[in-house]
Amino acid sequence: MSTSAGRRQQASHHSNSVTRRQAARKIEFERGSNCGYPLNSFLEAAIIAIISKMLVWVLWRLLSAALAGILLFTGFCFSQTATNYSFMHQATSAPAVSYFDYIIIGGGTAGCPLAATLSQNATVLLLERGGSPYGNPNITNLGAFGKALADLSHSSPSQRFISEDGVISARARVLGGGSCLNAGFYSRAAPRYVNDAGWEGRLVNESYRWVEKKVAFEPPMKQWQNAVKDGLLEVGVHPYNGFTYDHLPGTKVGGTIFDVNGHRHTAADLLQYANPSGLTLLLHASVHKILFRVKGKKRPMAHGVVFRDALGKKHRAYLKTGSKNEVILSAGALGSPQMLMLSGVGPADHLKAHNIRVIFDQPLVGQGMSDNPMNAIFVPSPNPVEVSLIQVVGITNFGSYIEAASGENFAGGADFGMFSPKIGQLSTVPPKQRTPEALAKAIEAMEALEPAVLRGGFILEKIMGPISTGHLELRTKNPNDNPSVTFNYFKEPEDLQRCVNGLKIIENLIESKAFTQFRYEYLSMTVLLNMTANAPINLLPKHANVSTSLEQFCKDTVMTIWHYHGGCQVGRVVDRDYRVLGVDALRVIDGSTFHYSPGTNPQATVMMLGRYMGVKILRERFQG
Ligand SMILES: Cc1cc2nc3c(=O)[nH]c(=O)nc-3n(C[C@H](O)[C@H](O)[C@H](O)COP(=O)(O)OP(=O)(O)OC[C@H]3O[C@@H](n4cnc5c(N)ncnc54)[C@H](O)[C@@H]3O)c2cc1C
Repeated sequence: MSTSAGRRQQASHHSNSVTRRQAARKIEFERGSNCGYPLNSFLEAAIIAIISKMLVWVLWRLLSAALAGILLFTGFCFSQTATNYSFMHQATSAPAVSYFDYIIIGGGTAGCPLAATLSQNATVLLLERGGSPYGNPNITNLGAFGKALADLSHSSPSQRFISEDGVISARARVLGGGSCLNAGFYSRAAPRYVNDAGWEGRLVNESYRWVEKKVAFEPPMKQWQNAVKDGLLEVGVHPYNGFTYDHLPGTKVGGTIFDVNGHRHTAADLLQYANPSGLTLLLHASVHKILFRVKGKKRPMAHGVVFRDALGKKHRAYLKTGSKNEVILSAGALGSPQMLMLSGVGPADHLKAHNIRVIFDQPLVGQGMSDNPMNAIFVPSPNPVEVSLIQVVGITNFGSYIEAASGENFAGGADFGMFSPKIGQLSTVPPKQRTPEALAKAIEAMEALEPAVLRGGFILEKIMGPISTGHLELRTKNPNDNPSVTFNYFKEPEDLQRCVNGLKIIENLIESKAFTQFRYEYLSMTVLLNMTANAPINLLPKHANVSTSLEQFCKDTVMTIWHYHGGCQVGRVVDRDYRVLGVDALRVIDGSTFHYSPGTNPQATVMMLGRYMGVKILRERFQG
């Protein structure tokens, strides 16, 4: 078995249980069954029968949910009063032509703090293709977490895409961007990451604090998360660093953008810092092209954009005269390379194939696309568990991050909450078969379920980096269509090894003393691995040896944790000041510029970067 060698290297106090587990797995494997555990009692047999029967069904929901970063159902409902920023308007109300010092494309996780900062001393136009997050309970309520991702309508704040690798993912389409969809975990980048990026440490810290004042909170710690924390310490992920936003090796409690009442605070809240007389924010403003001036210029120079409003009407916005004025792309890891290509900056052959006039031949646009693979194990629990999003993280010394989430009532509520057959990705009923009768039948089947089947949580690992990279290409000339993107998960052996090592920690964690109350003893690791592997969590082919080869388990059950990045990387497409190489008056500031995902989870650093670059750009503007 490929996992044997690694297990022999585990800490000595685990060696006995590890050996027993290996032996058990071998026997089970030789029996050709994933149910080779002893039946100790009638009760156990009954529960196992229920679990087996509902295996695929439950896992589909639960894993989709976990991956969806999801996980939780709180049962309460909250609808925030719309924050009526005086500078926020529908694009339909915009004039046909307007002029600004800065034009920012994308009101997302980086775009909002950037716009708020620049508006202090300049005129700024912020163009966001989606609507406002305020007043949308699917965004604001922690308990509705899966709903926004499952909403496949054109007005949904999320836009689903499936990578060429076969992994189901989503991108934001709403003011506040990914911070309106995400699982909320908030954790800074490591000091080394900051150093390598060439960022000014002091301004970085100030910028993090500026963000944290508005959107970061300490999460409540209850029984499941405490067991994860204690289990991580028991299996050797030392030291314990307590609650901190800092990236420190060991085990820690991180921050969250959900407040104590489970209400989400997003990058859009950072617009509270904006100078209302300096900012114009247009919603449902879909940018189609960046305009360049070429005649009489040494290099092409960005000088405006074309955008369409919700009625499809075309508008143009131009930069005012001034050598410091710029267009700034903050359209995210898919949107920014896509927009550069649509505007004529990209690989010449590819652009010509799409009939796009080449402004600057830049073969590296769309290269270096990466997504940190995530693998998870669902652990059914005999005891009640609290509803929790990600709160604890184990930062191992081999490049794997361990996180967990739980929910006692995953399918709670009259309509089974986020597992309702009525909502998209998490439903057992395929979209085309969703007749009222089919939905009623599915709900009836869910009502017949033992509550114990749905009780439990996920322990997941995400690898750092990753080292494996892929690429992005246009499919069409419409910016609202998804480009095609390939991440090449686990192409590099080091990435695969990090996944395997992370899963070994998870196995030990599940078998730790701290976790005893949250697992059925007779559900062997083989059963747990097979349960996860049998769920239709991605479109990849499945192999029979997932429970005996953790390498195969990593590959077959790969999912996204939505930390995809790249496409406009620093040093390849933009310089260290985020200026697009080869053209003037154009920068890219967002997750597309990263080589590696920062920290354990990126949003803290994406928001920080928006603020940080806003301050730097204003400094340059006024200090020369
Ligand atoms: C489901 C999910 C769970 C996640 N969980 C976590 C987590 O727990 N913790 C964490 O740290 N990170 C998490 N992340 C990742 C994090 O949210 C993202 O890395 C981050 O939001 C990316 O920020 P960005 O500014 O690069 O892009 P985005 O926030 O996506 O912003 C891009 C914006 O540009 C807009 N746009 C794109 N094209 C155009 C156009 N042509 N015209 C106008 N506007 C346009 C988009 O609508 C969007 O609002 C998660 C992400 C998702 C999706």
